[in-house]
Amino acid sequence: MSPTVRAIAIIGSGPAGYTAALYAARANLAPLVFEGSVSSGGALMSTTGVENFPGFPGGIQGPDLMALLRQQAAEFGAELVTEDVVEVDLAPAAKRLRTESGVEYDVQAVIVATGAGYRELGLADERRLTGYGVSWCATCDGAFYKEKEVAVVGGGDSALEEALFLTRFARSVTVVHRRDTLRASAVLQDRARDNPRISFAWNKEIIGLRGQDRLTGVQLADARSGDLSEVPADGLFVAIGHLPRSDLFRDQLELTAGGHIRVQSPTTATSVPGVFACGDVVDALYRQAITAAGSGCAAALDAQRFLAGLETPVAGSGFRPTGTVASRPAEPVRPATEEATMVRGSAVETVTDASFAGEVLDHDKPVLVDFWATWCSACQLMFPALADFAREYEGLIAVKKVDVDESPVTAEKYDIGSMPTLKLFRGGEVVHTIVGAKTKSSLVAELSQFLPARTP
Ligand SMILES: Cc1cc2nc3c(=O)[nH]c(=O)nc-3n(C[C@H](O)[C@H](O)[C@H](O)COP(=O)(O)OP(=O)(O)OC[C@H]3O[C@@H](n4cnc5c(N)ncnc54)[C@H](O)[C@@H]3O)c2cc1C
Repeated sequence: MSPTVRAIAIIGSGPAGYTAALYAARANLAPLVFEGSVSSGGALMSTTGVENFPGFPGGIQGPDLMALLRQQAAEFGAELVTEDVVEVDLAPAAKRLRTESGVEYDVQAVIVATGAGYRELGLADERRLTGYGVSWCATCDGAFYKEKEVAVVGGGDSALEEALFLTRFARSVTVVHRRDTLRASAVLQDRARDNPRISFAWNKEIIGLRGQDRLTGVQLADARSGDLSEVPADGLFVAIGHLPRSDLFRDQLELTAGGHIRVQSPTTATSVPGVFACGDVVDALYRQAITAAGSGCAAALDAQRFLAGLETPVAGSGFRPTGTVASRPAEPVRPATEEATMVRGSAVETVTDASFAGEVLDHDKPVLVDFWATWCSACQLMFPALADFAREYEGLIAVKKVDVDESPVTAEKYDIGSMPTLKLFRGGEVVHTIVGAKTKSSLVAELSQFLPARTP
């Protein structure tokens, strides 16, 4: 056995991953936690108030809750690696994980806690209009729809949460649902029905999106009669469910018909010995932060039992990852509110309405501008990747950021309608636009045709 083998790796950084990390760390297993390169903290990073996580009377902001879970896991010795795992070999005897930067880790046990992503409508224009009216995150993009008309599609808790949140800004919110009853919890249904800004389009399916440069409306078909109609909409928020993030494991772990990882309930054991799964990636039924945290705890205990039964268990600390590149050390844990205001490193400078022309349009090099806001958690999650990108291309390409609330004229001029949006300027003109949080490598890939060649 390689001397660099670690006892346990946890893939994922939502409530399930951090809880598994806390338990494994307290068991002195020094777990490695792969948090994801732009999405550490999981689904709750994109919500506001969480009122149903026990222990927080009065509620807590989603990003603050995740910062606390992360801090608690780190305090007990979990090693946090801000990278995506991109390849796994889950052979029963020895397991190997490879991250985006090419580092390989050998481990004896793996806990999969990769959560679930958003489901798309599958319409032809959905991708084209993403960031131009189509969104999956009201807390990220809702503020762009002040006194506008928006639609939300879906009938579950997420759809009604999105709709209720949007009433803070929008003049009207139409909830489009393909049935005549909602799946959402009774309390949310009551709140939505009592809200004068919310109306419902029952038994309607969205069959098309209107708009060239921006969304102007959605085309509906009646699920019973097939009659066609149209709702004017400046924004469409898609909340039609989640897709378990199990693709990475598809060929190696048994999945359910819905794509969830199959576990030997009530344990978290998967079809491969030494691999455990927890949270929303296994759960088609409850999908709550507390159930994810509970199953994360169970996964860590199951993994502990598995490791104790091995003939040659490795100790939990003092081991180094295999491969040639050292793992990135865990970021110091900061409250989400503080993290919101900073970009690490000095390579990413702030420009404002007043300085934009001089520092961006007249710049002699290409300038990548990150349009962000303090209330946008996805923007904050992307900062480390952006700072890394800026450092790597320093002297060749300038990277600047614009706070859209501080510089509304510039944000409006460039029609920023989703967070984060990055625009590449060359000779004063926009030559490329990227919508949504990206990893450093996907930034490099998307901008490759514009990046100057680097001298070795
Ligand atoms: C808008 C919204 C509001 C919600 N509000 C509430 C609420 O009020 N109360 C409540 O109880 N629940 C709420 N939920 C549900 C709750 O957030 C989820 O049930 C819970 O976060 C699931 O936890 P998880 O750990 O399984 O997965 P997630 O929270 O989804 O975390 C998984 C993490 O793993 C990362 N990951 C995935 N693949 C990899 C990889 N290959 N390498 C590294 N990392 C990877 C992901 O990027 C992600 O960060 C809400 C969900 C949403 C979307």
